[in-house]
Amino acid sequence: MLYAFYLIMSRLTAATQFALAIRHSLKSTSQISSTAYSPIIRYTFRMEPRTVNWLFVDLNSYFASIEAELRPELRGQPIGIVPVADVETTVCIAASYQAKKYGVKTDTAVHDAKMLCPHILLVEARPRHYVEYHHRIIAAIERCIPVHTVMSCDEFACQLLGREREIQRATSIAYAIKQELRTVGITLRCSIGLAPNRLLAKIAGDMDKPDGLMIFERRNLPQALYCLKLDDIPGIGSRMEERVRGAGVSTMKELCALPRDKMHGIWGSVWGDRLWHWFRGDDFLEPEPRKLQTLSRQHILPPRCRPRDVARGVALKLLHSTARRMRREQLWAGGVAVQISYYNGKPYEAGIRIAPCCDTLTLQEHFLILWNRSPMHDDLASLAVMLTHLDTEPTADLFVPDSTPETAQAKQRVISAVDAMNARYGLNTVFLGSIHDARKEAPTRIPFGPPPPLEEFDDTADNVRRPPTRYTLTPEQLGRRRGKAG
Ligand SMILES: [Mg+2]
Repeated sequence: MLYAFYLIMSRLTAATQFALAIRHSLKSTSQISSTAYSPIIRYTFRMEPRTVNWLFVDLNSYFASIEAELRPELRGQPIGIVPVADVETTVCIAASYQAKKYGVKTDTAVHDAKMLCPHILLVEARPRHYVEYHHRIIAAIERCIPVHTVMSCDEFACQLLGREREIQRATSIAYAIKQELRTVGITLRCSIGLAPNRLLAKIAGDMDKPDGLMIFERRNLPQALYCLKLDDIPGIGSRMEERVRGAGVSTMKELCALPRDKMHGIWGSVWGDRLWHWFRGDDFLEPEPRKLQTLSRQHILPPRCRPRDVARGVALKLLHSTARRMRREQLWAGGVAVQISYYNGKPYEAGIRIAPCCDTLTLQEHFLILWNRSPMHDDLASLAVMLTHLDTEPTADLFVPDSTPETAQAKQRVISAVDAMNARYGLNTVFLGSIHDARKEAPTRIPFGPPPPLEEFDDTADNVRRPPTRYTLTPEQLGRRRGKAG
């Protein structure tokens, strides 16, 4: 009797598994697959789990959300973030979702933003806070999964490994990240993309904003991309789009249908081949960029800085901050260059090769030779300062011929000490006298790539002086001090 019952039950189980398997194979091929499939089926039919390789986190309206976090009265309001307050000629560098509803976007001119949304609140950017939150956000994500690449101040790519790659597991990591972000700030929201490669994960993250989660599975590629516009693809800007359209391609469906060699032809480089593979879900990263050759900073001068003697201080400030960045990268400069444009007059451009050096004092001496040769106009419009022919530290015999190694090393020690003090007590706690009058000009901005370290941001940007870090004694030092006191 028991044996007969066992036989019936085992047949029933097999029939159920078969029915489930058929249902599973007929399941629609939607991009988001939230249906959990039975582990029994996977085991019985040895089906491979569906996987993704990358998780991409993109914070929504980042700068505006941080301002709303810091100033509760701004929450729910249409906000435009501007680099300088009360200047009509500038553009919004970010907008809150309430402002986006009126058509205000990044790069919308202030004048246009006011036309589109008359009650918009324009808020001056405070880059230092955005970078502070950037580090807290990394820590929050890393409580769920390690960050592989910091793409920018508000974009992070995480590589999924082992069982993290299973869609169910990856999805729960994505929700855990969203939850963790709330502990950093209640106004923070992010869109997350899951995909077989980093580029597609970024595109997926862009598709469902705000607070979305989008998944591209390899089996749905490249069809899942057909709904996109050409300029939704990172790297297809207005000029590239023109070239693609010039080749008779106007939709993503047409672009995805192109053979690889045709893509290579349109891009004129291996980038076309890479895109062809990425659109199909192949997972590889572009090779590491070549070693840094040049570092530069440029600044459009406000009216008060246009006279030549004032602009000189601003140029030196740009030189000092570029030199700091170079030292952070552990590089030495083999050349200095400058570009100046004037409102009335031909632009001035000059550069010289120098013996490799990394200290600001020597670089400043070389720079001033170029500066003193520039035209004596008082209507400077913009400045660009460059350190060129960058390389790693040279061997001792390559020191400046007219300077003994001791003086070169002494200058370097002075500058290292200045860097260390500024890193600890805030930017420009100690500075060279040559930038005294210009030290509050040309504040550090957040670039497109990963942001510079926090100590690069002037406190003047938010009028808040960073309190000095409290010096903590080690237990040994404490013991010694107690001993002395006793
Ligand atoms: Mg974003």
